[in-house]
Amino acid sequence: MRVYLDNAATTPLDPEVMKEMCKVMENTYGNPSSIHSHGREARTLIERSRKTVANLLGTSPSEIFFTSSGTEADNTAIRCGIIDHGIKHAISSRIEHHAVIHTLEALEKAGVIKLSFVNLDKKGNIDYEHLETLLKENERSFVSIMHANNEIGTLSDIERIGDLCEVYNAIYHCDTVQTMGHYKHDLSKLKAHFVVCSAHKLHGPKGVGFLHINHRIKIKPFIYGGAQERNMRGGTENIYGIVGLAKSLEMAYAEMDEHKQHIQGLKTYMINQLKESIPGVEFNGEIDADKSLYTVLNVSFPEMEMADMLLFNLDIAGISASGGSACSSGSDIGSHVLTAIGASASRPSVRFSFSKNTTKDEIDYTVSKIRELCMVNA
Ligand code: PLP
Repeated sequence: MRVYLDNAATTPLDPEVMKEMCKVMENTYGNPSSIHSHGREARTLIERSRKTVANLLGTSPSEIFFTSSGTEADNTAIRCGIIDHGIKHAISSRIEHHAVIHTLEALEKAGVIKLSFVNLDKKGNIDYEHLETLLKENERSFVSIMHANNEIGTLSDIERIGDLCEVYNAIYHCDTVQTMGHYKHDLSKLKAHFVVCSAHKLHGPKGVGFLHINHRIKIKPFIYGGAQERNMRGGTENIYGIVGLAKSLEMAYAEMDEHKQHIQGLKTYMINQLKESIPGVEFNGEIDADKSLYTVLNVSFPEMEMADMLLFNLDIAGISASGGSACSSGSDIGSHVLTAIGASASRPSVRFSFSKNTTKDEIDYTVSKIRELCMVNA
């Protein structure tokens, strides 16, 4: 049996999405910037996709900018939000994706900002009082705090962060890569200035995403070139990628409640099965349904011999998952997220992440293999 439980890394392309993309690849080769009919046909597809995305998210098409990835969208929001607005102080968390942390660190290294990290508890929850203190103590800040953590699944309270940022006139960027298409975002109400999407996390294609720039903020381009994306991002558009993104978001919204229920059910089932069969098993991050991303379960296994072989052995059994333990002292190899929440470096951790395609049989098979591996190595 082959089991794919690494959907937070990427999801398989949905066949319906692929069909839409293939139609574009076969029929639409005009450059969307050309004014002849071939170009106009391509332009129409892009603008139709933008409208689809905007309608689903309760925003205006003029606020959606297609990018090459979630990483590019994060970089654009952070670099341009900070530099164009003369921001001198940024607040983030130590469990952000590297697309965020490394961008902020580069700006700090270049002397553009002072970077503060908000305190976290052992499950990766934000200390909102500390966030408020940091906002109060510094002149206008740039806040970059993700919606759901990609390794441990802990969710942040985006309404609360939005309210705080409003009170202290801060710019709020929220990395929503892991929740876009999995939760309903109403961007007409959300107080974030920037949110992002990466299509390959919701059964869309790799290499395409978008940045939502709220009308309350203006930035200059991150990539200079042609007049694409209303002069905001030079580069001939990835037409079939953009069409695939819009189709995948449309499908995700149409089927969200059903998928959420299915996936949350499997996650709860796996938690219970693991608790029953692996003495001493724990979970990194929140696992309660209202505090945790339903697609992610990060399991902390008891110390065992050959701990570093766990993922490899799962792979041999046909199970694809991902992992990484907290860094042991003196080493920086491992997960910066698990290190930041103080997870034990001697307990092996594995992230299992699910999708609409995951089945109960796959969970049963995975738990049975884990049980075997834990018994052999105990
Ligand atoms: N932010 C988060 C939270 C992610 O999980 C990822 C991808 O793993 C990214 C950003 C980067 O997205 P992309 O792979 O499209 O560059």
